[in-house]
Amino acid sequence: MLKYFNYDIVFQEIPNEVTLAVNFSLCPNHCEGCHSPWLWQDRGEEFDLQTLDNLIRTYHSNFTCFAFMGGDNDPEAVNKMAEYIKENYENIKTAWYSGKDEISDKIEIKNFDYIKIGSYKKEFGSLKDKTTNQILWKINGDLSKEDITYLFQKR
Ligand code: SF4
Repeated sequence: MLKYFNYDIVFQEIPNEVTLAVNFSLCPNHCEGCHSPWLWQDRGEEFDLQTLDNLIRTYHSNFTCFAFMGGDNDPEAVNKMAEYIKENYENIKTAWYSGKDEISDKIEIKNFDYIKIGSYKKEFGSLKDKTTNQILWKINGDLSKEDITYLFQKR
């Protein structure tokens, strides 16, 4: 089950996209130095297909990409929601910010346009640091993965 803590329309998380970013709680990763430790907790509201539909219909004209910020406690649910967006909203791209160091084998990358992986490690910094251990993949039409992390570091 996914639970969401809050959401916002943001400009930094996915380069060249206006992103409706939903922050999920129940994060199982517990990275040392986590910027949002409250997301470890069982907080917020259950996030189901109805919630997803309501959010998209409310903000549809204001964003180009829907981002699941977290959800590592239930990657199957993230995958199902991303697939639903792909099948029902052809103009909306999908992104997943995972805190795992590998892409989960519980998802199908065809359902995503972007996938960020990597736990937070203080010594390596954030996506904006050249030393980062995190990667933002762009998923191309042939399902090849293109590392576009450098786009954060040019800014
Ligand atoms: S994945 Fe993100 S929210 Fe979860 S513990 Fe790591 S930094 Fe915090």
